[in-house]
Amino acid sequence: MSEKMYLSTRGNQEPLDFYQAILQGIGSDGGLLVPAFQIEKKDLKALQNLNYVDMATEIISTFIPDDVKEDIRGLCQKAYGDGLFPSEVVPVEKAGDVYIAELFQGPTAAFKDMALSLLPHFMTFSLKQKGEEREVMILAATSGDTGKAALEGFKDVEGTCIKVFYPIDGVSPVQKQQMVTQTGQNVDVIGIKGNFDDAQTAVKKAFNSQELKELCNQHHVFLSSANSINIGRLIPQIVYYFYSYMTLVNKKEIQLGETVNFTIPSGNFGNCLAGYIAKNMGLPIGKFIIASNKNNILTDFFNTGQYDANREFYKTNAPAMDILVSSNLERLVYMLCQDASKVQTYMNQLNETGVYEVDANIFAKVKENFTAGWLNEEQVLETIGACYKETGYLLDTHTAVGYGVYKEYQKQSQDQTKTILLSTASPYKFPGSVYQAVSGEKMDEYDAVDLLNEKTKVPVPTPLKGIKDREILHKKVIDKEAIIDFIGEQIKEF
Ligand SMILES: *Cc1c(COP(=O)(O)O)cnc(C)c1O
Repeated sequence: MSEKMYLSTRGNQEPLDFYQAILQGIGSDGGLLVPAFQIEKKDLKALQNLNYVDMATEIISTFIPDDVKEDIRGLCQKAYGDGLFPSEVVPVEKAGDVYIAELFQGPTAAFKDMALSLLPHFMTFSLKQKGEEREVMILAATSGDTGKAALEGFKDVEGTCIKVFYPIDGVSPVQKQQMVTQTGQNVDVIGIKGNFDDAQTAVKKAFNSQELKELCNQHHVFLSSANSINIGRLIPQIVYYFYSYMTLVNKKEIQLGETVNFTIPSGNFGNCLAGYIAKNMGLPIGKFIIASNKNNILTDFFNTGQYDANREFYKTNAPAMDILVSSNLERLVYMLCQDASKVQTYMNQLNETGVYEVDANIFAKVKENFTAGWLNEEQVLETIGACYKETGYLLDTHTAVGYGVYKEYQKQSQDQTKTILLSTASPYKFPGSVYQAVSGEKMDEYDAVDLLNEKTKVPVPTPLKGIKDREILHKKVIDKEAIIDFIGEQIKEF
């Protein structure tokens, strides 16, 4: 067995190499794929002065066969070095005493671009490495931002087509407009009557459906995932933890080796999990401060060790975090116990009763690394207003959740460790709420864009300019129960 293999968190998956892991997207036993090898620690000094493409190459090569490092550099160049991002890729700003790493400078103005501008290149590279001749049908469930970033990444990519499922009433008007106006020969955007969890659960089921598997075989196609259940989404996200840290070192804000905290507005927990892997690779991270909105299931988990999905689902003004089934938590639990049968037991309990509780050993490790809090919608608006007034920095609703939770943590804990807040979206993706927060006035979403720009002088990101007037190309809406059948029909068209 070559060294860098991937296994399932639930233990019933033959070892896969990197390419197979990318193409398959999820464990055949329903678990998530994780490295089966000891992850190498990095020499921080050697990373300090690298640009984003070179740093991405160094970090990502840790997870990939050694002989393709130069190919990986080429893929990273296409994703981050050829003009889709500004040259700084992830600028680190400061609001008061909080460092803010802006992960939203990519082609769709969302942090999902950090991974989804690379994943399609991983996919085509893996198809080539494996001599795979079938087409791949990418399925993505989205709470708003993944959909657009995946569509943009996969549009017109040879050998692939993509189907995005979004909750018709669960995304912001700007997010929806971004998706339904998507161009490209191989893209499809489908509204579903249901919430994000319904979409994600259906997509996960599709991967394990025997019926769909047979259809796929007949029609010479296979399914893969663009959600953060795909390990190819997580690996690129490790890079910006190192990069934002080194930016602070190079600006002399911190010393090389100094411990920092990260605050992370969280939903499906992919962002934070990538950070936990970075910590395992030797990046000196103290605490991860996990921020949630009113869907505060993660807050409860990190405070009690119990994951209890039997609760109401709320639609909030930070919709990308409106999630009750936080997929990547399964990877964290696995990494903390390294015991697939235990994970399988927890996931069975979750499926059957909606609840599981980790044991004392796991919970002790949870406490060592993580702390968590949440903000309701009103507090989100107050936080945006207060931060803008006090520091001049304009937060979006998701990043505001992080900012508010961090400020409360700082007050309660007196922890003086310097902290990087990961900013996950441009304020112009949620202009109605952000404008209301800084002006007190409620406005139509699109009017709010111009008003916000006039008031704050923060530039409107290029990908969001003029989207109101783009032609709507995707109008399909289906019931959540119909997702699997719909995918079946699509496979038959191959
Ligand atoms: C996806 C997303 C999140 C949540 O990230 P996870 O990796 O799912 O935890 C937070 N904010 C925004 C704007 C997002 O798009």
